[in-house]
Amino acid sequence: MECYLTCLNNSHGEILLPDRVPVVVGRMPELGITDKVCSRNQLELTSNYHSKYVLVKRLGSNPSQIDGIEIERNTTSKLISGQKLFIVNMKYPHCVKFKDSCDQGIHEERDSSHHVKDSFPPSKRTKSYNKTDAAKKKLKIKNATTNNHDCLEDESSSEYSFKSNEDNVQSGVKISLAETTKTDKKSATTSKHWSSGLKSAMEDPENQVFQDEEVIIIKDKYPKARFHWLVLPRKNIPSIKHLKQEHLKLIKHMLEVGQALVNKKTDDSSLTSIKFRYGFHAIASMSQLHLHVISQDFSSKFLKTKKHWNSFTTDYFVDANDIIAELKTNGEVKNRSSSRLFLDTGLRFVHCNCLQLYFVICLQLFAGATFVVSHRKICRL
Ligand code: AMP
Repeated sequence: MECYLTCLNNSHGEILLPDRVPVVVGRMPELGITDKVCSRNQLELTSNYHSKYVLVKRLGSNPSQIDGIEIERNTTSKLISGQKLFIVNMKYPHCVKFKDSCDQGIHEERDSSHHVKDSFPPSKRTKSYNKTDAAKKKLKIKNATTNNHDCLEDESSSEYSFKSNEDNVQSGVKISLAETTKTDKKSATTSKHWSSGLKSAMEDPENQVFQDEEVIIIKDKYPKARFHWLVLPRKNIPSIKHLKQEHLKLIKHMLEVGQALVNKKTDDSSLTSIKFRYGFHAIASMSQLHLHVISQDFSSKFLKTKKHWNSFTTDYFVDANDIIAELKTNGEVKNRSSSRLFLDTGLRFVHCNCLQLYFVICLQLFAGATFVVSHRKICRL
């Protein structure tokens, strides 16, 4: 027995709703919904295979409906086969289908590395996981999932979030739709979770600024400064947490190629005074290890929020040399799971060798939203 969320407009493939495992859906590529009226966490769907219904909890602020009847926010309604679920504002009609046949194996073909049982420590697993062996076998969870309450939203995309593995564990069960979507050719391409975007970006030759046997350098798609590149290892290493002593050489190499690129690009005498930093975010939002190579002007239309600013100007930004030192002495990188606090600290001025001053004005514009305007005061060499 399996349960699928099916789009009545056929705009995406079927989405597996595992037995008694909450799956959050909303504005996301997997559902083909880009309408900002729809929250990224619009609905939480929990299927019950035994009783053949799906509990629908509305999390988003705008209304969702079952057969035209509004589901109140934070309340749960039952959805059964034959009923129409409108994701938001009587739009995006879906239904649920309970099917007896199960084509096991389609999910295993894609990535055998992130099974539910591997992704959560035993203490954090819910009872339902232990009960749902079939679901366990088929489901995988990406390094970052769809819990986007804290995400930093860019107008242009959902690229930026400081949500991490740790959050997903803490917040309980959140399943990446990318991994629960039934695989047909179309959904295989659309179902990739945004957090794996760097992996596809680095494989695209058009993005590659530099490559060798060990690493690939790409331009950051949403640069937070005038120059902003990402150095990625070819090897699959999800984050700094996964680094061991054996990676020391690789990290040194990543730093070296980053520095070499900067030297090459800033060879021009007018650019030699530009300062750069090389480091990792303590809790990266994107999976696949990436070294940020970023100029310290922070002159960018993409640097829009306090969190963006703090992620590069506080200890949330971990210097590559610190990582190298930790690997040398301890053979691992220290735990930085509380680093998220840096993102909410007050804005601070950034002085570059006391020669350049950047100041930041924080404007409380709309309801509680924080915008950062960075401005460079000319105080040059
Ligand atoms: P973080 O995971 O916090 O270290 O930051 C991820 C970085 O990846 C951000 O600076 C994003 O602007 C950048 N980014 C996100 N998606 C892409 C992409 N598809 N190609 C290149 N850079 C990206």
